[in-house]
Amino acid sequence: MPENRKTQERLDPRNPLVFDAREVGRRPGSMKRLRRPVPVPEDLALELVRVPAGATLDLDVRLESVLEGVLVSTTVTVPVEGECGRCLEPFQDSVAVDIQELYAYPDSQTDDTTDAYEVGRLQGDFLDLEPALRDAVVLALPTNPLCRDDCPGMCPDCGVHWDDLPPEHSHDVADPRWAALQSLREPTAESTDANGAHRGSQPN
Ligand SMILES: [Zn+2]
Ligand SMILES: [Zn+2]
Repeated sequence: MPENRKTQERLDPRNPLVFDAREVGRRPGSMKRLRRPVPVPEDLALELVRVPAGATLDLDVRLESVLEGVLVSTTVTVPVEGECGRCLEPFQDSVAVDIQELYAYPDSQTDDTTDAYEVGRLQGDFLDLEPALRDAVVLALPTNPLCRDDCPGMCPDCGVHWDDLPPEHSHDVADPRWAALQSLREPTAESTDANGAHRGSQPN
């Protein structure tokens, strides 16, 4: 096989998300468990939620040698912070993320029959878990996060959290007495800057 096959970027074995496939060997069925702290990749975020920068993940990874390559499995719990989609209060939570990813040997049938974006590849002796981790975490982030499942949100008229309002709270905008007061106030308030247009009738 020509050497120019290996034009992919070289993986840095010191990167904690890079694993050495030699740890598990090439005998199908053999397994290796590796546990290590991993700094969370940067920029894992959606509009209202994000994984806090600087967080450390306790990664417990199983490498399994299969015919076509190395199968990596892990479940990792990721801290999440964000703003509630109903009341905008900040909250903290965590999501559990399952990852199972095959990294094919360069000379395998999988390598011949799939594209690298479909199935990962071993690069030399190493594999990079970061793309799979990123994809899995972003998919697991809630698109409409809530501070709690039954968050009642805010009163749409005054913006105060329903938790801080009495149950009978309302703004009575439809109250006919209030509507009458409104119609008395409006003409005087707006007659000064009206440019010739009549806005309703004058109060009698
Ligand atoms: Zn809320
Ligand atoms: Zn209100």
